[in-house]
Amino acid sequence: MKQLSQKLKNKGLTIGFVPTMGALHQGHLSLIKYAKKKSDVVIVSIFVNPLQFGPKEDYKKYPRDLKRDLNLLRKAKVDYVFCPTTKEMFPKGFKSYVKAGKLGNILCGKSRPGHFDGVVTVVARLFQVVKPDLAFFGEKDYQQLIIIKQMVKNLNLDIKVIGCPIVREKDGLAMSSRNAYLNAKERKQATILYKSLQLAKRMVAAGERNAERIKKSMRKLIATQSLVKIDYIEVVDPKTLESKEKIKGKNLVMLAAYVGRTRLIDNQIIYTY
Ligand code: AMP
Repeated sequence: MKQLSQKLKNKGLTIGFVPTMGALHQGHLSLIKYAKKKSDVVIVSIFVNPLQFGPKEDYKKYPRDLKRDLNLLRKAKVDYVFCPTTKEMFPKGFKSYVKAGKLGNILCGKSRPGHFDGVVTVVARLFQVVKPDLAFFGEKDYQQLIIIKQMVKNLNLDIKVIGCPIVREKDGLAMSSRNAYLNAKERKQATILYKSLQLAKRMVAAGERNAERIKKSMRKLIATQSLVKIDYIEVVDPKTLESKEKIKGKNLVMLAAYVGRTRLIDNQIIYTY
């Protein structure tokens, strides 16, 4: 992979990179579309990163179907797919971690300690090998996007990180590889997450500026679904991820919830003028 990317670079080609954990869906494919628009060569990686899963999380049962993924990527006319093994990514003697810092300990980081350190460590290593000019990440994982932008800045990497909008199912549920875990009942109830974000948007449009009241109404709506348990709902500044009490300018409503045993996340930018 290193030799290949060096060769592409020597030819003066712009490399666009889309890191994934596989189990691909339209969300991933939309990132690839953006990458194709902005780069000469598109490289997709598939690697289920053990470092970003907690000991009680779903690393082992995370959906893996390389054959299906490669077919989708072929159809999407991706130039190269990089599928390293765990040993290749983290060989014996691997000791040097990258830390996400403060941003890694709030929101999702609170309930998933070490998760973002695992993410930035693997992404830094993938960047080192793939040497992209542009890297594409989904806004679905908004905290991840901000943390990776911070890492690129802090490590002085010459990579432009580009955030791409959330792709949703017809009923609004944000696409995720983990949606495959949901049974029919859970799948139906999971739509409440998007509905609660829409409620927040409507409240702001109607003039509500108090974040606590918005969160309270969202919690009340989500509580109507017996299988959905909120992990957190926060209204934050989308640049710093700091909590906001007052809705003003550009706001980001973020949430995480368990639907049955599956942890899902979603978010929504809300502007006020
Ligand atoms: P994953 O395979 O879940 O690690 O995701 C790989 C990339 O796809 C990340 O940058 C995610 O943010 C992005 N992604 C996942 N789901 C979606 C979605 N529904 N819409 C847009 N991007 C997504």
